[in-house]
Amino acid sequence: MPLVRYRKVAILGYRSVGKTSLAHQFVEGEFLKGYDPTVENTYSKTVTLGKDEFHLHLVDTAGQVPVDKYSILPYSFIIGVHGYVLVYNVTSLRSFQIVKNLYQKLQEGHGKTRLPVLLVGNKADLSADREVQAVEGKKLAESWGATFMESSARDNQLIQDIFIRVIQEIARVENSYGQD
Ligand code: GDP
Repeated sequence: MPLVRYRKVAILGYRSVGKTSLAHQFVEGEFLKGYDPTVENTYSKTVTLGKDEFHLHLVDTAGQVPVDKYSILPYSFIIGVHGYVLVYNVTSLRSFQIVKNLYQKLQEGHGKTRLPVLLVGNKADLSADREVQAVEGKKLAESWGATFMESSARDNQLIQDIFIRVIQEIARVENSYGQD
């Protein structure tokens, strides 16, 4: 029997960027409409990568995400969390600013410079309303040493890839610390 490894991943970002939609699309394979944004959800899915199986537990952090420099990131976002999907909405410059604050808080909370993070620019289907260019997302992720992707939860574009990449990113960071 293959070893099943448990991975807890928090999805963080400003409100309405599509956190719930991404998690729901990944786990249920459908786009949600008219969902209550105030409820925090968890989702689970087993993912097979080569010979390895991962039990992925997603925490969709509705509501309590700190949006300014002075607010505090809840401890539950740090303890026991293996990796992060930081999501902004490509049609909202403010949501892009907020992922920068969130990343800084995660670094402070973990006290580490290398974190398993995937930066996701969601709602890429709304290209006419775009406020953040893909190149800006890419540059930001590079400055963190992280992976960047654009996605559309509506069109189910690259959603599976996001969660596979975050599992790979967790392994990559764990290995790099093991070699220090
Ligand atoms: P959350 O507050 O970050 O969890 O965001 P939600 O998943 O609740 O999504 C907020 C709104 O954006 C909802 O009306 C969704 O239907 C919509 N939405 C989410 N992802 C996409 C996307 O990729 N494209 C488009 N066009 N709308 C999206």
